[in-house]
Amino acid sequence: MSARTSNEPSFRESVDLMFNRAAALMDLPPGLEEKIRVCNSTYTVRFGVKLRGRIQTFTGYRSVHSEHMEPVKGGIRFSLGVNQDEVEALAALMTYKCALVETPFGGSKGGLCIDPREYEEDELERITRRFAYELIKRDLIHPSQNVPAPDMGTGEREMSWIADQFARMNTTDINSKACVTGKPPHAGGIQGRVEATGRGVQYALQEFFRHPEDIAKTGLSGTLDGKRVIVQGLGNVGYHAAKFLSEEDGCRITGIIERDGALVDEDGLDVEAVSHWIRSHGGVKGFPDGTYVEDGTLVLENDCDILIPAALEGVINLSNAEDIKAPLIIEAANGPITAGADEVLRKKGCVMIPDMYANAGGVTVSYFEWVKNLSHIRFGRMQRRQEESRHQLLVDELERLSKDTGVGWQLSKGFKDKYLRGAGELELVRSGLDDTMRGAYQAMRETWHDHPEISDLRTAAYVVAIQRVSASYRAKGL
Ligand code: GLU
Repeated sequence: MSARTSNEPSFRESVDLMFNRAAALMDLPPGLEEKIRVCNSTYTVRFGVKLRGRIQTFTGYRSVHSEHMEPVKGGIRFSLGVNQDEVEALAALMTYKCALVETPFGGSKGGLCIDPREYEEDELERITRRFAYELIKRDLIHPSQNVPAPDMGTGEREMSWIADQFARMNTTDINSKACVTGKPPHAGGIQGRVEATGRGVQYALQEFFRHPEDIAKTGLSGTLDGKRVIVQGLGNVGYHAAKFLSEEDGCRITGIIERDGALVDEDGLDVEAVSHWIRSHGGVKGFPDGTYVEDGTLVLENDCDILIPAALEGVINLSNAEDIKAPLIIEAANGPITAGADEVLRKKGCVMIPDMYANAGGVTVSYFEWVKNLSHIRFGRMQRRQEESRHQLLVDELERLSKDTGVGWQLSKGFKDKYLRGAGELELVRSGLDDTMRGAYQAMRETWHDHPEISDLRTAAYVVAIQRVSASYRAKGL
């Protein structure tokens, strides 16, 4: 996959440039702009693990961008491409993301330089535990100070090792489970976290398509139904986004780009079947129901209605921005469009739904998980009881009516299932996420439409986020 061209700024510089564009339109107190923009600290650790008869040294990072709210929050990435610039850029995006969707966290991010596919599960467990140990020792993993989550190359399994490592080192901490989110449901996690980022991308698009004025800016019309979508990366985020959009909203997935190439089919690809093929064959090549394109990145330039980059940062850069045809791009990945490409695309009239909003579903549901861990009660359990007892009153009333009038009143099973059952954890998570995505979009679009000098959603998102972070700094009396 292509990354930014060598004459472009680094990922962190790119994020800073986008920040500066927005900050220039704001009236911030002197010096506050810089305080918000800079990364507070980055811890680098090198540690050894004895594997296959020899000691292997690994390098890892945990960067804290802003502590205007604590704990700070953000994933831990396992990838060979991890470096200080990258974790700092990602930590900054976490600050703005959390502010935009109003999760009460500062921004952080971590990473380990490793290709997890090269290790057996027990080796990965030892490496993860050792990395976690280094971070826990320095309070860089802690329920009230710094709460990691999954990111590229990590998932429920790694989060559960981290939670266990923390519990072993803090045996008397009753809140230890809240030291990390994205755990499996049977180990203190929450229903719906794995799908949350992809679900958030779907809710973001659904919300976008509720606003005719915004749709008109893309030259598209109507609803999501029948829209031609190209997705880059069928990892956790891309897979869930493509699956929900095709199965529930009638989108046609006309292109899937992966590491080893891409698949295209104007009639629409079966996301489930492609994902299954990737898992059993290690790539998309050879998939029978679609045309294989060896140079997958070229497919980013194909004609489509919606482009979803859901893999690496910098994939849309100065080398290909001019050739991108999608009128609407939703950034499911963090930083897939460089600052230079952003400018080219804006000039072309392309509408970009920015990463800090588009992929905020993950941290939103992480917040629900953290709250659930700290409250020590299943999410929604109280409400469910309350709702169900209120509904029982309705059933009792119908029975009384039946007796009084002699006419038999009864609720159908379908009605009961649909309206009278109290919401379970998954329903609460989904509705909370939907609500969050709608609210954040509306905050962003109001800023976009109310200020003629703000010409795009990304700048609007930064303005909303910076306003909130600065309000928080001012309230604290920095
Ligand atoms: N790694 C995800 C992100 O980039 C999730 C972070 C979290 O849940 O804390 O937003």
